[in-house]
Amino acid sequence: MATPPTHIGYSIEESIEPNILTVRMSPVPSQGGILTLTHCVRSQVTNLTCDGETIIERPEGSWSIPEDVKDLRWKIQLKEGKGVEACEQQSIKLDSSILLSGGSSLPQFKDIYGPEGVRISMPTVRTIYPEPGQSQSIALPGFSKPPLFLLLNFTERTLKDGLITLTYLLDDEKSHSLLPDMGENIKGLKWLMEVADIKTKENFTVGWCEYVGESLGISGATGSGILLANYLLSKTSPIDKALMLYVVLHEAFHQLQTYYPDEPTWIQESLASYYGTRAVEVIMPEEGASLMDRFQKEADRFRKGLLTIHSAVEKGDRSEYAAFYTKGVAFWAEVDKTLRTRSDSLDLYLKDILSRMEYDQQGDPVNLNRILNLSQEAWLSLRAQFLLSKDEKKLF
Ligand SMILES: [Zn+2]
Repeated sequence: MATPPTHIGYSIEESIEPNILTVRMSPVPSQGGILTLTHCVRSQVTNLTCDGETIIERPEGSWSIPEDVKDLRWKIQLKEGKGVEACEQQSIKLDSSILLSGGSSLPQFKDIYGPEGVRISMPTVRTIYPEPGQSQSIALPGFSKPPLFLLLNFTERTLKDGLITLTYLLDDEKSHSLLPDMGENIKGLKWLMEVADIKTKENFTVGWCEYVGESLGISGATGSGILLANYLLSKTSPIDKALMLYVVLHEAFHQLQTYYPDEPTWIQESLASYYGTRAVEVIMPEEGASLMDRFQKEADRFRKGLLTIHSAVEKGDRSEYAAFYTKGVAFWAEVDKTLRTRSDSLDLYLKDILSRMEYDQQGDPVNLNRILNLSQEAWLSLRAQFLLSKDEKKLF
């Protein structure tokens, strides 16, 4: 008879040391095994011990746990939050709130399946997102799912409109006036859902964290049921607002992509960037157009084709990853321009692209020209300009 899966619990507690949290796991699976951080982000786990003995982290994000351990615990070294961008997916301490990132702080047993729940045992914490379920526990997402982000002491604001429920979780109550208007944000989300042909009820939850820096970045993070974005305390010019909206709408597009089959990274990122920018144009036409312009200009920095860069990224070289956000946008904008010459539009094909596109091993969309009904000449010219330049070789 098969034994029922182990119910592993993570208990997170405060520590007397500043910016440190303690995690205890119980019960520890008696067979031991490899404990791993599931997403490729910088580890914040320190001082992991089994029955009091320190286990060395080797390689980064991985610990070998022996059999029959009774007491397994570690510390999370929180970063001072305001200098950390949301896209880094780190656990951070803000003024009165904490963002806990599962990807950097909560390693899981790779080969042991079973419900895994996180329990926050911190008397000073009033509100927890996501709300704990039965037995005060929050489920850890599986290995292939977006990472878990736990927001402690954030303030919640919600707005509903038709199928959409938009929730803002604020690290500081007072920051609300600095963020994009929720009604405007919903306008962009609605447009995205229409163009991606999603007709179900959809919850968009955005965790907002203050960022202290010169300017806002162009990436946030998509977690399980939550999108993360930054805001600046110092300035909120229209272009800053447009950037904040862009980050949310880009991440929201990733959420909608989960209704469709998995796609190569370059497709996921380039479509999210292109449609995120288009959605900003719906809300703020002038600023949206200048963002579209900026991304297309930045595309010129990348001489290699998107397929070559995609192959490098797959092998772990992310040095030209930004091409997906820029050259990728330029690619889809040019495809749209080509379609417009025959009074057509990319928007009308988005659902087909998301549901019917086929790829080879290099991430080459082998039937895109057929889906779009492009002439051979137009297709070859788009390919040479954006996907694989004349002096590059196909790898597969
Ligand atoms: Zn993205």
